[in-house]
Amino acid sequence: MHTADYIDLERTYATHTYTPLDVVLSRGEGVWVWDVEGKKYLDCLSAYSALNQGHRHPHIIAAMIEQAGRVTLTSRAFYNDQFPFLAKELCELTGYDMLIMMNSGAEAVEAGIKSARLWGYQVKGIPDNQAEIIVCGHNFHGRTITAISLSTTPLYKKDFGPLTPGFKPIPFGDVEALEAAITPNTAGFLMEPIQGEGGVIVPPDGYLRAVREICDRHNVLLLADEIQTGLGRTGKLFACEWEDVRPDIVLIGKALSGGMMPISAALGDHEIMGLYKPGMHGSTFGGNPMASAVARAALRVIVDEQLSERAQEMGTYFMDGLRAIDSPYVAEIRGKGLLVGVVLKDEVGDARPFCEQLQERGILAHETHETVIRFAPPLIITRDVLDWAIGEIATVLGR
Ligand SMILES: *Cc1c(COP(=O)(O)O)cnc(C)c1O
Repeated sequence: MHTADYIDLERTYATHTYTPLDVVLSRGEGVWVWDVEGKKYLDCLSAYSALNQGHRHPHIIAAMIEQAGRVTLTSRAFYNDQFPFLAKELCELTGYDMLIMMNSGAEAVEAGIKSARLWGYQVKGIPDNQAEIIVCGHNFHGRTITAISLSTTPLYKKDFGPLTPGFKPIPFGDVEALEAAITPNTAGFLMEPIQGEGGVIVPPDGYLRAVREICDRHNVLLLADEIQTGLGRTGKLFACEWEDVRPDIVLIGKALSGGMMPISAALGDHEIMGLYKPGMHGSTFGGNPMASAVARAALRVIVDEQLSERAQEMGTYFMDGLRAIDSPYVAEIRGKGLLVGVVLKDEVGDARPFCEQLQERGILAHETHETVIRFAPPLIITRDVLDWAIGEIATVLGR
């Protein structure tokens, strides 16, 4: 079997919901992946930041294998001996009182929205079924019906209605729009501190702090979707820390398992998370011992290997290197830590051909929003590898 055969097979039997590069991966280790032809690549996507710890981190693999040899799933109808520790360690690491464990990022978003609504009715006193949640234009919060109901991207929503009501979009980065959109029925404001899928959009300085202040003043919960930006990616454990902002609810997923399996969580304090009563929420696989053991190991790697600090240091180095490239195509390099967007000039258009050229040179990156190339390598990347990558990127993007 060759690359084209695998692609044909997949395209025959699986929905065409993605636009992958023509590369079929069969192995990964650290920052590297290999395709079925044996060619080696630097992974500069990290599965949309789910691989902050790199591919197959040995400590996480060890925890996974060890747990697989004992018990993998108990359901929450019984307790297991891993989840209590994950819950404690994750709360202690992030500074929140309690969490809800889910599987995918979209489910964490759903849990966050349910939590905000619950608080809105039971604590804020919003009349039944009137709760509103303010969201941002060009957001990405996942693909469930509710997550697409929040979206402002027509392709994500069209022909999938009727959608979930109760959401009000405002422009991202616009503080006045937030203030104007708040009503007595507003339960929460949901935002990504940096919009990843939206094209690595960093809001203006001071935005997060201003948002926090407005939410406090109007008794509105601040919900941060840190599924892509969290767990070290931007150079802090959470991107909101760049402005010393503590959201009321934080959503995490992706790197929470170091790329081993889908694991996600919504974190908050007692006043919100303590409102849940048995039966109000749940998930068969949420908090399963396998996921819990894996997430505990994945979090230990982030802390022990100081991945947030690494992301900050390597991200600065990487962005400096990219900015030094004399390019006729690039309009702007933006991002934080190792979440980097190379924005092409309008007249250059499509980022796809550049991604294909990078692929030929052994770098896997993917376009977001057509004109942005996102570079988000695993946070364990070294200066030497970055030097090599910057050189290759310069041949593709330089004069
Ligand atoms: C990836 C992502 C999600 C959805 O996560 P899934 O695991 O794909 O459901 C939600 N929000 C943000 C910001 C993301 O990047």
